Amino acid sequence: MIPLPRETLMSDIANAVGVCERCRLHEGRINAVPGEGDLDSPVVLVGEAPGRREDESGRPFVGSAGKLLDAALEQVGLTRSRVYITNVVKCRPPGNRRPRSDEVASCTLFLDEQLAILAPRVVAPMGNSALRHVFGRFGLGRAVIGEVHGRPHPVAFGWGEGVVFPLYHPAAILYNRDLETELHADLEAMVALLGSVSP
Ligand code: SF4
Repeated sequence: MIPLPRETLMSDIANAVGVCERCRLHEGRINAVPGEGDLDSPVVLVGEAPGRREDESGRPFVGSAGKLLDAALEQVGLTRSRVYITNVVKCRPPGNRRPRSDEVASCTLFLDEQLAILAPRVVAPMGNSALRHVFGRFGLGRAVIGEVHGRPHPVAFGWGEGVVFPLYHPAAILYNRDLETELHADLEAMVALLGSVSP
């Protein structure tokens, strides 16, 4: 059997996300936010959940945190169009609260499928929620972002060898500008690493 193209597989997931009612978060959404970006990118950035602007637009990281992320990526020569960006949870939690564990458990099959299709060499969870899921999913145990950010954590993904590379969530920088320098240094380190792990 001829395998379906990535575009088709990712589009099928986006369609499934768009009509998903697996958890209560579907009740308040305007748009689900499956993710977007370069399907051939060696890096997938994973955030926590959509916010208000993302819910309105159906696109990830388009609010103030997204603008900060765009600028940070551009500073290290890694434009948004060259990465794939998504979230652990695809619908906005009310009032931008943190997603609950049952909501994460209901939703992460979509992220897991996306990662298996995209087969990136680098998965970069941004912030503690994404870190918790990604570290757990790939057997890296428990950690907090302040202790593990900016370093590669080697993993045998289901699709090959690679690394998990934790980053601060851009929204954290809106509340603590000191973290901007850390995010910049971490992204520089990730870009340097990409040069060595990209096919
Ligand atoms: S958050 Fe995920 S599991 Fe919940 S309704 Fe949205 S797509 Fe479905």
